[in-house]
Amino acid sequence: MNILVTGGTGYIGSLTSLRLLEAGHRPVLLDNLCNSHPAVLDRIATLGGSRPQFVQGDVRDRALLERVLAEAQIDAVIHFAALKAVGESVAQPLAYYDNNVNGTLALLHAMQTVGVRNLVFSSSATVYGAAEQMPLYEDAPLSATNPYGQSKLMVEHMLADLAVADPRWSLTALRYFNPVGAHPSGLMGEHPQGVPNNLMPYIAQVAVGQRASLRVFGNTYPTPDGTGVRDFIHVMDLADGHLAALQHGVGRPGLHVFNLGSGQGHSVLEVLAAFGQACGKNLPFDIVPPRPGDVASSWADPRRAREMLGWHTTRSLADMCADTWRWQSTHPQGYSV
Ligand code: NAD
Ligand code: UDP
Repeated sequence: MNILVTGGTGYIGSLTSLRLLEAGHRPVLLDNLCNSHPAVLDRIATLGGSRPQFVQGDVRDRALLERVLAEAQIDAVIHFAALKAVGESVAQPLAYYDNNVNGTLALLHAMQTVGVRNLVFSSSATVYGAAEQMPLYEDAPLSATNPYGQSKLMVEHMLADLAVADPRWSLTALRYFNPVGAHPSGLMGEHPQGVPNNLMPYIAQVAVGQRASLRVFGNTYPTPDGTGVRDFIHVMDLADGHLAALQHGVGRPGLHVFNLGSGQGHSVLEVLAAFGQACGKNLPFDIVPPRPGDVASSWADPRRAREMLGWHTTRSLADMCADTWRWQSTHPQGYSV
């Protein structure tokens, strides 16, 4: 299939594009490069055997989208392009609604005009809000605790309404848990701008000596060791999940919602210890007060994806740490060097 991948040069989009190439599809990547580097295209070419078509542009540019969808004879779209920093979304809500909600609206309009009606959308476990009942299953109540989460929820509502209004659409929302890790070659991975907000990239920067020590946000949560528990998923498992969702969705109209997670939680201190094993040193940490808005635990009930997509995670926490370390230690400046 010809697949338009918006946000295709980003962390998850680039690795999914590689997997699409490897599976014999033809990905066309569209990205405005606001949070990614074009050098990733060379890495995809090296690992995937051919360089995917790349369009530098914005998902809010409807005319551009219509042109790309028609000219490349796109069969389906995987829509990753979005802003994703929770704290920034609180400070700049309009930028988040504009990129994430308006961007998706423009894409859906363009798809409707050209007659492309297969979409896989990057949602997030953040749509479960501050839920306390674990594991999280797809029919759990939804809510948002910040503008980023609200933007994902608004898009899910748009997709649900569209599926009702026009039964020709196949719309799949994938709720990712905590994506981490890198390509096992160490050639592709995540390089956040500035100080990382997320646990794994922060630990990786401590491991290479770019940051002094990990700040562990709270150790009195009702969890086995008192630190927060999350469902970490290897980004290559996540990429495989997109292929499975695409295969399932194309030609099957309606709204399809899946959790993509392992179903298993790991605490902050467990991740730190596993990373220490991967890099061969004890990593320093300090316990600091909890981060406002954090829940104690979050992990998926992944059964629906297993039963309906035939997909489940295969990579362990040790794999996630080893692959992140390979990428981080060989590319401390990400793709810019
Ligand atoms: P990323 O920032 O690495 O990738 C997003 C890409 O979209 C970037 O390359 C950026 O340049 C591009 N982009 C942003 N706004 C755009 C616009 N208006 N037009 C064109 N391109 C634009 O992020 P990621 O981690 O790869 O996340 C991909 C998707 O998955 C996002 O929708 C994100 O919200 C979602 N998600 C990510 C996580 C996570 O922890 N990484 C968790 C849940 C959901
Ligand atoms: N965390 C931490 N120190 C950090 C970053 C994160 O202790 O520098 C903790 C955080 O409180 C949470 C877990 O690690 O319990 C995962 O946080 P992350 O931001 O990676 O994911 P999310 O909170 O979005 O699930």
